[in-house]
Amino acid sequence: MSKALDVSNLTIAYGEIAAVREVSFTVEAGEIATIIGANGAGKTTILNALCGLRDVRSGSIRLGEDDITALPPHERVRHGLSQVPEGRRLFGRMSVAENLEIGAYARRDHAARRHDLDHVLELFPRLRERYRQLAGTLSGGEQQMVAMGRALMTAPKVLLLDEPTMGLAPQIVDLVIDAVRRVNGEGVTVLLVEQNAYSALEIADRAFVLESGEITLTGNGPDLITHPRVRSAYLGYD
Ligand code: ATP
Repeated sequence: MSKALDVSNLTIAYGEIAAVREVSFTVEAGEIATIIGANGAGKTTILNALCGLRDVRSGSIRLGEDDITALPPHERVRHGLSQVPEGRRLFGRMSVAENLEIGAYARRDHAARRHDLDHVLELFPRLRERYRQLAGTLSGGEQQMVAMGRALMTAPKVLLLDEPTMGLAPQIVDLVIDAVRRVNGEGVTVLLVEQNAYSALEIADRAFVLESGEITLTGNGPDLITHPRVRSAYLGYD
């Protein structure tokens, strides 16, 4: 196995306050990894630092063989890192087609773009049905698929997902989680941040528990489901 993402001693601060402290973790190529943690634990802060939207105070981020710590966000995308942001951030008054095209705007190779678009529409047939519809009129689950499709249009090696199931009804949560699985099945390494800990742990090859900006537990997902502390703090068991 080779490392797809290697994060070493990452510290990220807001002013004087370090929201993330000395965090290190690795995701192997082809894996689904997840970071679970309470509100405010620092999950979004880590994802934003990975994709270059937040400066780090110290530490390093490697994507495959490349040190991307100092690269601007668009360069990271070119290196194969793409994020599906919290809240999806679609252009609601643009069509599904236009939202997907935005994901590929920086790519000049039209044949490859066409190929990736076909691939996204195969992965999410629902989006083919909704292709000309305004994104803002879709259901939450469909919008999440557009957001994932848009990220996939950059042909990422590693896909970061920030709370993709937030606000969705339980059966739609299953649909989104299944979509994450299928994307991973296509060879994309996934780092998933979730408050919906159970769903994330079920599919995770590797899971990290983040508490107050530090990783306090690591294991494979199904194993952590049975861990007493995870059960009481994140899965709602006594
Ligand atoms: P959530 O699930 O609510 O998104 P999270 O685990 O993603 O939580 P972060 O949003 O990364 O947590 O926040 C981590 C810590 O950093 C929190 O204490 C939060 O209050 C603080 N924080 C986040 N953004 C800022 C900011 N822009 N300025 C100052 N402090 C911030």
